[in-house]
Amino acid sequence: MKTLNDFNFNNKKALIRVDFNVPLDENFNVTDATRIEAAKPTIDKILNDGGSVILMSHLGRPKGVEAKYSLQHIVAKTEEVLGKKVQFVDDCIGEKVEEVAKNLKPGEVLLLENLRFYAEEENGDVAFAEKLSKLGDVYVNDAFGTAHRAHASTTIVAQFFPNDKCFGYLLAKEIESINKVLSDSEKPVTAILGGSKVSSKITIIENILDKVNHMIIGGGMTFTFIKALGGKIGNSICEDDKLELAIEILKKAKEKGVQIHLPVDVIAADAFANNANTQIVDVNQIPDGWQGLDAGPKSLEIFRRLILDSKTILWNGPVGVFEMESFAKGTISMGEFIAESTANGAFSLVGGGDSVAAVKQFGFEEKMSYVSTGGGAMLEMLEGRTLPGIAAILD
Ligand code: AMP
Repeated sequence: MKTLNDFNFNNKKALIRVDFNVPLDENFNVTDATRIEAAKPTIDKILNDGGSVILMSHLGRPKGVEAKYSLQHIVAKTEEVLGKKVQFVDDCIGEKVEEVAKNLKPGEVLLLENLRFYAEEENGDVAFAEKLSKLGDVYVNDAFGTAHRAHASTTIVAQFFPNDKCFGYLLAKEIESINKVLSDSEKPVTAILGGSKVSSKITIIENILDKVNHMIIGGGMTFTFIKALGGKIGNSICEDDKLELAIEILKKAKEKGVQIHLPVDVIAADAFANNANTQIVDVNQIPDGWQGLDAGPKSLEIFRRLILDSKTILWNGPVGVFEMESFAKGTISMGEFIAESTANGAFSLVGGGDSVAAVKQFGFEEKMSYVSTGGGAMLEMLEGRTLPGIAAILD
C-alpha cells in the first residue's frame, strides 16, 4: 500500500483530493472544521518536504455553479487551520487554473473551486479527470468520505498518475483500521451491530460472520430475531419479512462457530416518546402495547463482560434510541465498556453512521482507537466491497 511516506515531494506539486465538505452557517462561516483539520497532516508532510499543494474538494450538492456552494467560503478557515496563506481560483480546470498551478512555489497552497460545479465530476468523466490531472505531479487521495464513489477526482483521475499516486494519511489510517478489525485482528473479535433495521445491516452481518468470534446484535434489529425465535415483542419495531432471514443468520453463525448475543432484557416503553412510562422486561416477554427501546441492565452486564474480554471491537449502530435521554443509557454504557476495554489494550473501531454520532455526542471519541470519518464509505467496507477510490490507488 503506497502512502505519502513512499514519496519525497521536494519541488513536486501534489494534487490532493480532500473532503472539505464542511457545514456552513447562514453567513457561510464554517461551523465544524474537523474535516479540514483531518487533512492537515497530509498537507503538512508535503509542504515540509518542499512541495506545493493543490487542494480539490466538493461542497454540498450544487446543481451547476451556485455561489452558496463556492469553496471560497472556506478559504479563511483553511488558512487558520494550516496557519498559512491559501490561494483560491474560481474554477477547477482550464487554462487559468493551470497557469496558477504552474506558478505555485514550494510551500504554497492552492484551493480549487467546487468540483461538483461540473456534472462531469460525479459522472466520472475521463476528459474532465484528465484536465484535473494536468495540475499536479503526484495524485494523493485523502478523502475517505467519497472513496466509495467512482467520481472523476476520487477515482478516474488516478489513471493519469500510473506511478505517482498514493493514499494520504487519513485514508491510509481508515484502511489500516478496518484491516486491523477484519483481516489482521487479534482474537477474540467482537462486533456490536445495532441500529433500527436488519435489512440495512444484513450485508455487513453476512460479510463479518467469517471474521468475528462474537456478534452482539442490539437496537431495533433485536426484535426481528426475538420474534423469529418465538418471543413476544409487543409493539417493538420488527421486519416481518425478515424473520426467516434472521433464523438463517443464526444458523449460519452456529455453523461458523460465531456466538451471537442478543439482549436478554429491555427497557420497554408504552409509547415512542422520551416521557413514556417504562418498565424493565425480559426481551421475549414484552407486553402488548409496549415496545423495547433500549437494552436492559442484565443485557448490559453480559455485553460488558464480553467487551472487556475482547481484543478487537467493531461498533456499528446504537443499541437503543439514544436520541431520547430515557433510552440512551444502553448506548452510553456500550461506549463506556468499549472505552474501558480500549484502555486495557483492545483495538476498537467505531464506524458507519449513528454510532459515530453517539460516540461524539457522549464524549467517547478520544477513548476509542479509531472513529471512522466516512459513513457510507465505512459501511461499504464493512460489507466487504472494494471501494473504487481505494482500488484506483492500488491498481
Ligand atoms: P441505523 O441508522 O440503522 O444505524 O439506525 C440508527 C437508529 O436506530 C437510531 O436512530 C436509533 O434511534 C434507532 N434505534 C435503536 N434502537 C431502537 C429500538 N429499539 N427501536 C427503534 N429504533 C431504534
